[in-house]
Amino acid sequence: MPDPFNRPVADLSSSDAHAEVTALREKIADYRDAYYGKDQSLVPDAEYDALERRLAELERAFPEVQSQDSPTQKVGASSGSQLFDPVTHRERMYSLDNVFAESELVDWMTKVERDSGEAVRWLCEVKIDGLALNVRYENGVLVQAATRGDGVVGEDVTENVALIPGIPQRLVGDNIPELVEIRGEVFFSNAEFEALNRRQAEVGEKQFANPRNAASGSLRQKAESKNEKQLAAMHDRLGRLSLYVHGIGAWANPPVANQSEMYTLLKSWGMPTSPHWVVADSVADVWAFIERHREHRHDLEHEIDGAVIKVDSLALHDSLGATSRAPRWAIAYKYPPEEVYTELLDIVVGVGRTGRATPYAVMKPVRVAGSVVRQATLHNKDVVAAKGVLLGDTVILRKAGDVIPEILGAVTELRTGNEREWTMPTGCPECGATLAPSKDGDVDLRCPNTEHCPAQVRGRIEHIGSRGGLDIEGLGEVTAAALTQPIVPSVPPLTSEAALFDLTLEVLFPIEVAVKDGETGLAKLDDVTGEPVTQTPFQAKRDKKKDPWDPDASGFNGTEEVAPSADARKLIKGLHDAKGKDLWRFLVALNIRHVGPVAARALAGHFGSLAAIESASVDELAAVDGVGDIIATSLAEWFTVDWHRDIVARWRAAGVPFEIPGHPGPGAAADSVDGPLAGMTVVVTGSIPGYTRDEAEEAVRRAGAKTAGSVSKKTDLVIAGEGAGSKRTKAEELGIRIVDAVDFDSVVNPA
Ligand code: NAD
Repeated sequence: MPDPFNRPVADLSSSDAHAEVTALREKIADYRDAYYGKDQSLVPDAEYDALERRLAELERAFPEVQSQDSPTQKVGASSGSQLFDPVTHRERMYSLDNVFAESELVDWMTKVERDSGEAVRWLCEVKIDGLALNVRYENGVLVQAATRGDGVVGEDVTENVALIPGIPQRLVGDNIPELVEIRGEVFFSNAEFEALNRRQAEVGEKQFANPRNAASGSLRQKAESKNEKQLAAMHDRLGRLSLYVHGIGAWANPPVANQSEMYTLLKSWGMPTSPHWVVADSVADVWAFIERHREHRHDLEHEIDGAVIKVDSLALHDSLGATSRAPRWAIAYKYPPEEVYTELLDIVVGVGRTGRATPYAVMKPVRVAGSVVRQATLHNKDVVAAKGVLLGDTVILRKAGDVIPEILGAVTELRTGNEREWTMPTGCPECGATLAPSKDGDVDLRCPNTEHCPAQVRGRIEHIGSRGGLDIEGLGEVTAAALTQPIVPSVPPLTSEAALFDLTLEVLFPIEVAVKDGETGLAKLDDVTGEPVTQTPFQAKRDKKKDPWDPDASGFNGTEEVAPSADARKLIKGLHDAKGKDLWRFLVALNIRHVGPVAARALAGHFGSLAAIESASVDELAAVDGVGDIIATSLAEWFTVDWHRDIVARWRAAGVPFEIPGHPGPGAAADSVDGPLAGMTVVVTGSIPGYTRDEAEEAVRRAGAKTAGSVSKKTDLVIAGEGAGSKRTKAEELGIRIVDAVDFDSVVNPA
């Protein structure tokens, strides 16, 4: 079919436009049939929306191709339901027109206000990602429930709706009419959707990729031809569904003037209404609602895919009317997509610093939620099995804002038969050791070669250099890989972290590492030799421009010179300077399981030296505030391993003191802390100019206080920097003293 996105409409001839329109209509009809008839999304919603927009654009530009049969003029699937009895709605059910940008929204609001001839009040709601339902009540009794269908005729799902707990069989209260059609959205709350998928996993069934199709599939089930077990599962799914009301159909003379008042009335009758709506008077307020829900898109109890802006006045609904597919008094503002489809190229196993072998997906790069995603973790082999993905599958990838990308599942309808099953390897991909669970029943597999597995050593070295560890500039991921997995020399400079502080410039300079392809992440191979292309990370580029007579250009002989790069010197200096860092940082750097900065600070402060920690009993360790049994046991076990003690011995020989100078010995430190904030528990929130969060917390601790992550009754002081939000509010509620960013210095460092 012609590519719908490449050619501007203005460049098309009438016959080109005709051909494209025909192809687009067929495609859209197929997608709609799958979506409304079989609860399947053959393309992501955003891609589908783009096709509809393109079709509408062509129909506007070429009036001769317009047709009453076009999907742009219709609601729902092109063919009627084969599953359920037809129900003719008393009043038509519409879809919604969409806008995708603020300017489009403003244009729409301006037009509606002009057509209304009066100032409009706007009812702002969230757009629930579910499916529309019409429930007919006669004299307060539920007589029929139907899906939207094509807007005129829907499917009779009354029996199934009787099993949805929140939908009353009988209305209670005043003003109940003889006949009323109440419309709303049937959906899975996030909690129920997760519970549903947990249940699917328990019974070995495929997980649902998205709540909308799961809700539609659950509501549109037929009890006939199901065995007892399947019937129980069907009832379970129906029992987890919810409804929020968002409109009305047939209703003679409703006793309210506005849709917002109507919600209050429907609520009083026992109908479930959404708490997430406001009435706004201005574009700015409407936009603020949209922005607020964009930011908190995942904080509601259910998924949303946008906001719906409606004229509040019911009289204006009548006068504005509707097109053949959507009311003129409402519009949907759609948020950018967070789900895209891409190809699963491979599943690769990565080994981390703790030896855990984690399968992760390698995908065809795809842009989603503002960044390009190529990889996503699949956690362990059970997760791969639960997601039911095969190599070569089209997979649904979700990335919400800053959240880690996740594969939701495969689009099984698009399988060609060429997909291949993946099996978890038995050996460590980096050192070949046989992977095994660390204890019976663990799903995670680990590489047992803890001391020398290059992947684990690399991970530990990176951790040593990290900000929470020794915070060594130049000792990050790339350097850690160069030190542990170089191409040259054949024996890496570090086969464990024991020799880290023995590194010299002479060891660093000759290192050669493989150059990786930015696209694939794989080693680049030389076109001719087939060998990996290498580079020398610790050397500067060969420099031909130096003045041959410059006496400082040592050893320059008029041809080429290799100058030691700043990186190598920076690393050696960084390692040297690190030896003087706080004891707690070394405790973190030793990579002892469960010992992070918080526990390390507590241990260092209490014992004052590594020797004292080593000779302490498990009970003594566990008794320290902030330590506890798990960490204490882990520490004691750590010291029983020879190669662990060897690390300490080698680092000590290289000049690491492993003690706090002048510390009076175990237990004494806790009382000796003083400073302007001595004994206080302080929470830092928001940003403090001139400090990173870590630096600000460090300053607070130097001033004698303990830092905490959340505000509670035990908090003595909250430092509320710029942009502080809920923690500040909580502190105000609890009457806790608050210090603003401007006063920070004077509080931690009083003159
Ligand atoms: P829509 O999602 O564009 O909008 C209309 C519907 O929104 C209403 O019928 C109602 O059910 C619902 N809604 C949710 N919250 C609401 C609220 N607060 N107030 C009023 N209505 C609310 O609906 P549509 O016409 O069913 O479908 C078109 C959309 O469905 C497309 O934009 C596309 O995203 C999706 N679709 C996807 C595919 C696919 O293959 N991926 C195929 C067809 C349709």
